[in-house]
Parts: sequence; C-alpha cells; structure tokens
Amino acid sequence: MAEVREKEERQGMDQGRETFRMELESRSENEEFARMTVAMFMSRMDPTLEEIDDVKTAVSEAVTNGVIHGYQGKEGIIYIEAAVEGKDFTVSIRDQGIGMADVKKAMEPMYTTDETGERSGMGFSFMEAFMDQVEVRSEPGKGTEVIMKKRIGR
Ligand code: ATP
Ligand code: MG
Repeated sequence: MAEVREKEERQGMDQGRETFRMELESRSENEEFARMTVAMFMSRMDPTLEEIDDVKTAVSEAVTNGVIHGYQGKEGIIYIEAAVEGKDFTVSIRDQGIGMADVKKAMEPMYTTDETGERSGMGFSFMEAFMDQVEVRSEPGKGTEVIMKKRIGR
C-alpha cells in the first residue's frame, strides 16, 4: 500500500510545477553563485551538459546586466526565480535598478551603453541564442525583468 501511494505521489509531483526562488546582493562575485545554483536546480530535469551550459551562460549574462547596468555597481537585490514544469524550464532574473527606455534597441546585437570599451553589447544576443525564448520587461527608474524559457530533452 505504502509503495503504491509513494508511486502516486511521485507521479503527481512529476506532473506539477516545481519552483525555486532566491535573492542575491548585487555583486559581481554572486554571478558564479547564481548560475551554479540555477544549474543545480535544473539538474532534476536530467539535462545534457550542453543544455546546462546554455542556461548557465544565459543566467550569467542576465545577472551581470542587473549588477552592471541595472544597479550600476551600487547596492541592490537581484531576484531570481526558476520553474520546472515537465520539460519546460523557465528562469526569471529581475532587478529594481535604472531600467531601460527602449528594450528593442537594447536587445540589438552589439548595442551597448558601456563607455569603457569592456562590453561588446552581445549579452542579450547570447541569451536569445542559448534559450528558446527571451522576454524583457523594463521601465525606466523601476527596473528590469528578463524571463527566459528553454525546453529540455526535446
Ligand atoms: P556585454 O553583455 O556583451 O558585456 P552589454 O551588457 O552592454 O555588453 P547586453 O547585455 O546585450 O550588452 O545589453 C545591452 C544594453 O542594454 C546594455 O548596454 C544596457 O544599456 C542595457 N541593459 C541590459 N540589461 C539591463 C538592465 N538590467 N538594466 C538596465 N539596462 C540594461
Ligand atoms: Mg550584458
């Protein structure tokens, strides 16, 4: 009996949505922590190494943007949420920083507001290349949210 119930519970869980949430201080040291933690969370989907690398790269780019552009190196919190639903993996990276007036323009390859010459303006292009879907919501003075989806093990 117990075995049957356990099996039913397991199946129920498989069908459901599992979520993960965390808040990180806006510091570049936390980028590595963010992508490792998200990768560990998604490991329950049994992804390939390539799929894990894709998600890690995308998360890293989004978190870096929050730290550098959103909060401009000042104090702030980066909010990360991830969800697993069947084969669908979703991750959201949000900041309450300066936001963007023109998201479409910001997402163009090689567009950057960086003046140090260190950035190439390819962050969003990488996110779009490595994930199936990238949605950006942003408002000047309020902040930015990047929601990315990827189907694992198609
Ligand atoms: P790279 O990612 O190649 O180092 P980059 O960060 O400038 O360079 P993208 O990641 O593509 O390039 O971002 C493009 C531009 O969008 C940034 O230069 C910045 O102006 C704006 N931007 C991106 N993310 C945010 C954010 N979270 N808050 C405010 N502005 C942002
Ligand atoms: Mg970037």
